[in-house]
Amino acid sequence: MVHINRKPILSMVFTCAQCGQCCMYLGDYIVIDAKTGPYTFSCSCVSTNTPFHAVVDEDKRKFFDNDEFPRAHPHACPFLRPTNDGRIVCTIHETSPAQCKIYRCVVVRIYSGEKQVGYITGMGALHSDDPDLRSLYELCAKQIPQGDEERDEWFARYFEKHGYRTE
Ligand code: SF4
Ligand code: SF4
Repeated sequence: MVHINRKPILSMVFTCAQCGQCCMYLGDYIVIDAKTGPYTFSCSCVSTNTPFHAVVDEDKRKFFDNDEFPRAHPHACPFLRPTNDGRIVCTIHETSPAQCKIYRCVVVRIYSGEKQVGYITGMGALHSDDPDLRSLYELCAKQIPQGDEERDEWFARYFEKHGYRTE
């Protein structure tokens, strides 16, 4: 494999494209327990067993009022809605649970040549069907740093050291 010299990475910034894919099957995890006002809800985050109070963001109420979307996507988080510019957004951005706010679906994309063979999520998990890449990931599992930014850069350097290209 080709080894590529990489310039120091100052910071790897995750930009959410607001595609909504990560929330499309979270309807069993983000649950509305009761409606407490026109746009306020008492809710539970089932995975962490945490109650939270959701308020639909003022600028997203017109999207939230679209009830066709939840009918067509019964497994989606009940607060997910399409906008009128092609995005699918969280309508309770201000009051969403902490783990929603910090979620990053992809922090490092891994390429072999021009082909993307896998990616690392914000939690440091590898998503890949490539057996070589999976073995390489398993080899480094005990060395993975805990801190988010340090971990993103560490992964990029680790895979580049083994001949992959990362973005
Ligand atoms: S975190 Fe990723 S999957 Fe989720 S909406 Fe943003 S870009 Fe899409
Ligand atoms: S609360 Fe918002 S960010 Fe969290 S799962 Fe629902 S739509 Fe996604």
